Amino acid sequence: MKNIFIIGSGFSSISASTYLAKRGYNVTIFEKNSTVGGRARQFKKDGFTFDIGPSWYWMPDVFESYFNDFGKKVNDYYKLEKLNPAYEVYFNTLDSVKIGDSLKKIFDEFEKIEPGSGNILKKYMKKAEKHYEIAVKDMVYKPGISPLELVNSKTIVRLKYFLTNIKKEVERCFKNKKLSQILQFPVLFLGAKPSNTPAFYNFMNHADFGLGTWHPEKGMYSVIKGMQKLAEEIGVSFKTNQIVEKIIVKRNSAVGIVVNGEEKHCEVLISGADYHHTESLLEEKFRSYDENYWGRKTFAPSSLLFFVGLNKKIERVSHHTLFFDVDFDLHATEIYDNPKWPSKPLFYGNFPSITDPSMAPVGKEACFFLIPIAPGISDSSEMREKYFNIIINRLEKLTNQSVKDQILFKESFCIKDFEKDYNSYKGNAYGLANTLKQTAFLRPKMISKKVKNLYFTGQLTVPGPGVPPSIISGKIVSNLI
Ligand SMILES: Cc1cc2nc3c(=O)[nH]c(=O)nc-3n(C[C@H](O)[C@H](O)[C@H](O)COP(=O)(O)OP(=O)(O)OC[C@H]3O[C@@H](n4cnc5c(N)ncnc54)[C@H](O)[C@@H]3O)c2cc1C
Repeated sequence: MKNIFIIGSGFSSISASTYLAKRGYNVTIFEKNSTVGGRARQFKKDGFTFDIGPSWYWMPDVFESYFNDFGKKVNDYYKLEKLNPAYEVYFNTLDSVKIGDSLKKIFDEFEKIEPGSGNILKKYMKKAEKHYEIAVKDMVYKPGISPLELVNSKTIVRLKYFLTNIKKEVERCFKNKKLSQILQFPVLFLGAKPSNTPAFYNFMNHADFGLGTWHPEKGMYSVIKGMQKLAEEIGVSFKTNQIVEKIIVKRNSAVGIVVNGEEKHCEVLISGADYHHTESLLEEKFRSYDENYWGRKTFAPSSLLFFVGLNKKIERVSHHTLFFDVDFDLHATEIYDNPKWPSKPLFYGNFPSITDPSMAPVGKEACFFLIPIAPGISDSSEMREKYFNIIINRLEKLTNQSVKDQILFKESFCIKDFEKDYNSYKGNAYGLANTLKQTAFLRPKMISKKVKNLYFTGQLTVPGPGVPPSIISGKIVSNLI
């Protein structure tokens, strides 16, 4: 039986491991950290539980289809709840919009804000659903080898949606600024500015409004636990605290790794670790991409994260709450065009204990805050503190309550931690952005151009950033092998 080694234990790696184990390979995962899950780890303190990375469970069909591939159901591994409201967006003091858990509720809400927009949204959502069918049922499962993968009768008639961007398209349909921002928000998951993302990607609006926002009981880490359980049931072996230091190449073929100082041999090697880092484990002549290549790429943002234990139940916010009370475009410019610490940051608050009592002790709240920032900017404890004060002051003002005096503890996580914990290039949080020039066959390749039997998976290759794409990425690479 062939031995396959996988570097890293993120969603893509676990996904790949299960498909390959099912086909009879002997699969071992080597993870540098003490727990599996990659960027989707969990942090626990004093009865509080925080997902350190992903917290939005979107595209439930992708998760269901993954477990179905093994004759299982999501329900066999974790419990899901559809959130209502799906999320809330603040635009000003005590001025927020709640996105309901059905299209009907959302159409009504739009109509209330901008008369006539309910019907426009209905038409817009029909297109978004069609694009979702084309993209997620078919295109995203392609390996990104040839441009022809994208060309078919369904995409050709939609060419115009690849030539215009989602910002323009949304602003053409919706004049109200709040509605326009709500509709542009989902593409932020792709890691790029809405003005840099093809309008075709409005399939993310179907993922958002059409399919809804879900919460796995006990947090996103339950998904990792479920996938790990499935993997172990079919024979995958997980090894944690294993730092892969080198990839061994003989006669242009990957034949093993050096891990914690010891040589181990395999027939096929996959890396789910960040692509740039993985190539640094190879001699320079075996790298497919040089530093210039990576330097020219548009990376998804990094993030400044805070995990806060609050000594009270928080009011007037929802499980997922976005704070869009400042200029959306300025913040985007300061991430992508003119990288620097944001002058006025947008931020996101996650309060999972509002709907899931397991996430915090009774009467208290688990709060996770995220500020998207440019990758590679300087990260210091003073800067973290400065931004913590900015967002907590805004949170207090916008929701009209005191928070600061109820903080039991707070921990932060930023660029330096992304670099140290995940070997992430410039401390990016979620990989390589999905812009038009970095889509499908234009992304770093899954098959090494220089080393035989070396493959890549995860958010830096196809299809791109996010949990569902990472799970799909694992399936694609296993098919290539
Ligand atoms: C803060 C944050 C919020 C996010 N929010 C969402 C969200 O709400 N919804 C969503 O869908 N997506 C979200 N994402 C994106 C999503 O989490 C990622 O796209 C996905 O988890 C990436 O999985 P992966 O398998 O590509 O890689 P990773 O999860 O990065 O896994 C790579 C693994 O490789 C390991 N590794 C690195 N170097 C070595 C080495 N030398 N030896 C051994 N192991 C090594 C790392 O430790 C890591 O465990 C978020 C990400 C972050 C960071």
